[in-house]
Amino acid sequence: MAILNIRIIGDPVLRTRAEEVTDFGPELAKLVADMEETMEDVDGAGLAAPQVGVSLRVFTYRIDGQAGHIVNPVLELSEDLQPDQVEGCLSIPGLGFPVPRARWTKVSGQDKSGNPVVIEGEGMLARCFQHETDHLDGILYIDRLKGEDRKAALRAIRNSDYDAVAGRTTAERARSVGSSFGGTGAVGSFGQPTGA
Ligand code: ZN
Repeated sequence: MAILNIRIIGDPVLRTRAEEVTDFGPELAKLVADMEETMEDVDGAGLAAPQVGVSLRVFTYRIDGQAGHIVNPVLELSEDLQPDQVEGCLSIPGLGFPVPRARWTKVSGQDKSGNPVVIEGEGMLARCFQHETDHLDGILYIDRLKGEDRKAALRAIRNSDYDAVAGRTTAERARSVGSSFGGTGAVGSFGQPTGA
């Protein structure tokens, strides 16, 4: 297993629609294992494959004691929204904003062996599934902000030296992300382990 480098906003892979997984072999198993190890290393609540530079439809999650991975996820959403919660993103270090999300979601997909998986959730789990599936479509949470929050986020991103951030080691990132994204709940936000 290996800890993978997390891609930072500005990297085109984060804005690319990821490909469906068709090969459920050892390479996929290794990717999932490495993503799980990376997510734990940065104390993240979720991680999508494009965030580690792999444009495939896979994400891992770790919310409130529920952990796993989903391949080729398809979401069904409730029409009503849950109360806004602050989200962070490992690919947009140091920022957090309240994001509107559907109250409930059902994710259907496969596991790394190709077996069907269906998980329903509300609250943080539903939020995480929506955040991670967005990543697979090249969407970042900042795209879902409106009004002043959106302006503030774009301004902060413009003013951040993300090239320098991207050049730091994973260990340094783990500390900075952990503190700014509520790895231990600092930004409150994404459940206990947070930032996705
Ligand atoms: Zn994210």
